[in-house]
Amino acid sequence: MITRTECLRAQRRAAEMIRQAGVRITSQEAAAIEVVDFGLSHLAEEGVQVLTLFATDRVSAKILVTFPGQTEPEHWHPPVGADPGKEETIRVISGALHVYVPGADTFRRGWIPRGKDAFYTCRHELILPPCGQWTFPPGTPHWFQAPEPGAVFYSISTCVRDALDGFADPGVVRLTRIVEDGEEPMGSHLNI
Ligand code: ZN
Repeated sequence: MITRTECLRAQRRAAEMIRQAGVRITSQEAAAIEVVDFGLSHLAEEGVQVLTLFATDRVSAKILVTFPGQTEPEHWHPPVGADPGKEETIRVISGALHVYVPGADTFRRGWIPRGKDAFYTCRHELILPPCGQWTFPPGTPHWFQAPEPGAVFYSISTCVRDALDGFADPGVVRLTRIVEDGEEPMGSHLNI
């Protein structure tokens, strides 16, 4: 759950980072940036900002923004019917991104969000600078994290079915509830 103010502030900050990275976006696109707290209600620690450029039945292109200090929880894209699941390639535009995948434990520069050791099982660390890229085969768990100054990166993938993604943290829900400032939490809003 995030407040309307928090959501707008995060949208503005993400749009500014995208533009500073040299990517032109319209004001409508800036206003459509999804602020995702994964239902964990601590956006600054665990969350991501997503601008979907397009998503058809077969291909999707997004720009993801991770603020400095922010971690996107470990997840995977499971098979659906005959489809082996989403294959995803990320490419860093600006900043630096810590990427964690299965493999030998090379965990050095990153950090695990407080109390969440069990939910971040991938400890093979890749540090991607601008123009660094990585492809996650379908079904492979992965998580991201940005140190200073945050990261702006592309995510190009096959068909997106975010609602079916698996998460290591059982507390995650693919639903960001936005509450009006000063109001009791009521309705919910499906972000991605
Ligand atoms: Zn992913």
